[in-house]
Amino acid sequence: MENWLTKRARLTPNRIAVQYKNKQLTFQEVADQAHNMAKKIAKVTQDNSRVALIMNNTLTGYLVIMALQQLGKTIVFINWRLSVAEINYQLADAGVTTVLTDDDYMSELSIDKQIKFSDLSTQQKITPIETFPEDFVTSIMYTSGTTSKAKGVMQTYQNHFYSAMGSALNLGLTSDDSWLAVVPIFHISGFSIIMRGLIYGMRVVLQSKFDAHQINELLIEQSITAISVVPVMLKQLVADLPKGAHYNNHFRSMLLGGGPTDLVTLKQAQLHQIPVIQSYGMTETASQIVALDAKDAVQKVGSVGKPLFPVRLKIADHAGKVSQQGNIWIQSPTLTTGYLNQPDKLAEHMIDGWFNTEDYGYLDAEGYLFVQGREGDMINSGGENIFPNEVEDIYAEYPGLNKIVVVGVSDQKWGSVPIAIVLGEELKKDALIQFGRERIAHYKIPKRFYLAQSWHTTASGKTQRKPFLAELERLKELI
Ligand code: ATP
Ligand code: MG
Repeated sequence: MENWLTKRARLTPNRIAVQYKNKQLTFQEVADQAHNMAKKIAKVTQDNSRVALIMNNTLTGYLVIMALQQLGKTIVFINWRLSVAEINYQLADAGVTTVLTDDDYMSELSIDKQIKFSDLSTQQKITPIETFPEDFVTSIMYTSGTTSKAKGVMQTYQNHFYSAMGSALNLGLTSDDSWLAVVPIFHISGFSIIMRGLIYGMRVVLQSKFDAHQINELLIEQSITAISVVPVMLKQLVADLPKGAHYNNHFRSMLLGGGPTDLVTLKQAQLHQIPVIQSYGMTETASQIVALDAKDAVQKVGSVGKPLFPVRLKIADHAGKVSQQGNIWIQSPTLTTGYLNQPDKLAEHMIDGWFNTEDYGYLDAEGYLFVQGREGDMINSGGENIFPNEVEDIYAEYPGLNKIVVVGVSDQKWGSVPIAIVLGEELKKDALIQFGRERIAHYKIPKRFYLAQSWHTTASGKTQRKPFLAELERLKELI
């Protein structure tokens, strides 16, 4: 394919490409400024085909991404919230020699060249690459590290292109569309917005910090038509939105994904008439591959929808044999070409061209997907399967309970039983159990409740279950 930026600047030079704070750039201006940025980046990155990037959602960060693509470099996206040790691991794993960072990134990393954006100065003549080859790995992104050590996922131009196509065919596209990018660009949820912007010729509004009140104001006052959010953001947006307040008339999709959402929050969003599009996807699939139309949101609450146009999906057992309930398997042109430095790992997840996501779920009679959780989190108790997500969801409504995580522990009689680790005020075991009895099957109710000392989340805010299990003995049990 032709270089997307060059192409875009030729097709719609005067359209707004990006907005950050009070500044807007057209596609032509982005092309020009990315070229200038590339001249400054060329010299410091000449010894490596990969360059690491530590950035917030800012205009400079955006231009650096554009510039690296113009230079034909693979961008290794690093989450700045990770610890220095974790970042050093990823830099070494990716084999990069240069990391470009936001000016306010202060930690010192183990790498040859750690350069702040504003220190890029030496200019060198460059020629932007002519084409964006479909099989070229333009981005390497690490998974969230929820279940084990984060894995580097290689994403090609083809992956991003089909991802953008799938989304456009699902949501439709108009020339006044504009997408608010407040989810981090170093995650696929954010970077996919940047790629869609180029492919669609759509305005992208960058926001570097999530502040629910500020985001609500933007969505009410500006003609933004879409935003991507993760569940915790939706929760905060709904809580901040005054009764009767509505987003601007053109607003049409709040794309929600990244993890499970509790039904209470979804229902509150419905009360505010927020067009939430539930979606399911992962770093390996370059953003969402399944999505639920807002018009089905009430009727199919809890579902993540149907596979997007380019995606095939089946529910099957470990051997890939179709079953009623089981692993979610997919075929998609958005699927990664592989994990970095682990050449056999993708193949371990594949049978006959199908990829086993290792998430668990089922399709209803009309083909809507319900994700129950990760297979590895499933608790088998006396022959019954329990999904921690479902139990956690129920307790989300419990007064005074702020956080809960459910895990399985071994049990002589049942093989394994669910127990819960909680945070909250004045919590009593009997009342918690009674609450569960009124709402879920008895075998799903946690047998014991422990008070958490700290909460274990990934740098992207997902609760990690394993560390809780490791410290269980030290936690106080509720009585
Ligand atoms: P790691 O692979 O390192 O353990 P991770 O799987 O959390 O981390 P991501 O790629 O960020 O890394 O997340 C994708 C996962 O998030 C999916 O495989 C799925 O388990 C979960 N997920 C995404 N969307 C949803 C959803 N709508 N409902 C339930 N789970 C979801
Ligand atoms: Mg994963």
